Amino acid sequence: MTRGKSRLWLVILVLILVLLGAGAFYVWPHLEGTPPQIALEKPVSHLGKSNTVFLRVSDQGRGLAWVRVTLVQQERKGVVLNQAFDAPGAPLASLKLAVNPLEMGMHQGKATLVVEAADRSWRNWMKGNVYLKEFPVEVDTTPPRISSLNQIIRLNRGGTGLAVYTVNEAQASHGVRVGDKVFMGWAPWPQQPGTKLCYFAYGDSQPRGVNIDLWAEDIAGNQAQMPLNVKVRWKNFKTDIINLNERFMNIVAARFADQIPTDRQTPLAKFLWINQDLRQHDNAKIALAAMPSQPYQLWQKTLERPLGAPKAAFGDRREYIFNKEVVSRSVHLGQDLAHTERSPVKAAANGIVRYAADLGIYGNCVILSHGQGLASLYGHLSELRVKVGDEVSRNQEIGLSGMTGLALGDHLHFSVLVGGVFVNPTEWWDPHWVQDNVLLRFSEAGLPQPLPLAKQ
Ligand SMILES: [Zn+2]
Repeated sequence: MTRGKSRLWLVILVLILVLLGAGAFYVWPHLEGTPPQIALEKPVSHLGKSNTVFLRVSDQGRGLAWVRVTLVQQERKGVVLNQAFDAPGAPLASLKLAVNPLEMGMHQGKATLVVEAADRSWRNWMKGNVYLKEFPVEVDTTPPRISSLNQIIRLNRGGTGLAVYTVNEAQASHGVRVGDKVFMGWAPWPQQPGTKLCYFAYGDSQPRGVNIDLWAEDIAGNQAQMPLNVKVRWKNFKTDIINLNERFMNIVAARFADQIPTDRQTPLAKFLWINQDLRQHDNAKIALAAMPSQPYQLWQKTLERPLGAPKAAFGDRREYIFNKEVVSRSVHLGQDLAHTERSPVKAAANGIVRYAADLGIYGNCVILSHGQGLASLYGHLSELRVKVGDEVSRNQEIGLSGMTGLALGDHLHFSVLVGGVFVNPTEWWDPHWVQDNVLLRFSEAGLPQPLPLAKQ
């Protein structure tokens, strides 16, 4: 009898222990004490008129319960976000915040972006682990001020222009916008850091009548722009007809045999891939290689015209006819010059080698940077005499002419680029054009030529 009773008690005791254990097993994770984590995707130092802030909040325990973001400036407080998360709680939230300090009545100066987040833990009497993080910011809603230092700027279609101007905020980025193309400016006068210049171009692909503006944007994202006083001289380029035949297309295709996609079967399909797809790809690659630059003017007087008789010119339109139909079109973005075979090709000015290798239809190709976004290109070379990173001086031999790439006879293809846009090279060979369109811009602004520091 006593044995039976004590056995019952033992069973009850075990049962209670099991229940307690199960309860603890269930409750314990709900009492986790790790607070949520808060981070900005990109650091924010300044807030302008309207800002997008990317916030990342996560909780590795029971998940997020809510996130609250406020902007605080002295006694003023504006709610940016107040978001609750449904059960079971989000492990991660990527939040895109729109912050408008002016709408919240904030003024210029210091403020704090306060982010609070809570998780779904049962700690703190079910309120969860709350974490608060503060990000100090500077409210700046004043756009930078730009003033032009130039009179009228004349610009040819396909040609180069130069603007000299001031921007009153030191850390602002700035330049010229021509239609949809943005050109970046430079600050090459150390004694006058607010004085800037920007080379820009009326690119061949821009339609007639696009707006040309100076622009600036400060680190708070405030933007300013003003129309630049530019008179554009529109010109029409000539059109050449090129009759295609299978023999010609096969010769061309053989040069790019290892690159042509296998679904291009006929000689015409192969030619079209080279003339259109590859050309576009090559031009984009050139723009990228020609864009990195530095603030000083490495060239002097002019760009040197390479030797040779002028052949195809900048801006020439080409229509390709096959079986009496126009099957392809292209634009020639440089000046061809024919001299003796394998004649020495020389640098048009002092510069830095940005590219020296095969480049599709341009064959063996050298790209030189002459500072402030100006670059020159030498195509179809049979031999390269420089490598990337070399500093070259005006008239230094950089290679030998040839017929690599899409060239059927030995000649030099010479291009000039401004901010990654192909421009008419003949302007840069002409000392009168340089005088009226570059040097005059400096003298009317009362500035010296922006040569490297040692020469200023
Ligand atoms: Zn050419």
